[in-house]
Amino acid sequence: MKGNITLTLIKPYAVQHGYVGSILAKINEASFRISAMKYLQMNKKQAEQFYAIHKGKPYFEKLVRFITDGPLVVALLERENAVEIYRKLIGATDPKIAAEGTLRKLFGASIELNAVHGSDSDENAVWEANFFFSEMERF
Ligand code: ATP
Ligand code: MG
Repeated sequence: MKGNITLTLIKPYAVQHGYVGSILAKINEASFRISAMKYLQMNKKQAEQFYAIHKGKPYFEKLVRFITDGPLVVALLERENAVEIYRKLIGATDPKIAAEGTLRKLFGASIELNAVHGSDSDENAVWEANFFFSEMERF
């Protein structure tokens, strides 16, 4: 069965460029319920843990630098088939090849400054939700 949660980050680049409101509006239009949300800045250690799977990749250091560059919005999103539908809404990792109308096409600048994160599997969505939110922070 497909899971009903996914986790998104509105990355520091998108926050700094004033895209938070527009991105949240698109999330609402796509019928996601926001079941938890906060505004925080990750430190290096937390970013390395969040992106542990990318350790050793040539872009790893930049990835950690950009995600810790300032505050970000983290939100837990709920609807049926959440991971797949949200990945469709955000589009390809590289804004240059992302489909028209997707969040990364509309708000991303490059493969590294791509505006948002979305969980890539139900299993990772649960892991990421637990990484950021306690039970008391979920509604
Ligand atoms: P995210 O995990 O941020 O939602 P994604 O799942 O589409 O993005 P991943 O393969 O998980 O892509 O890569 C994580 C992040 O690492 C990307 O968002 C991007 O910033 C960076 N990244 C991935 N591949 C490259 C690459 N080839 N060159 C530079 N940066 C990259
Ligand atoms: Mg990913």
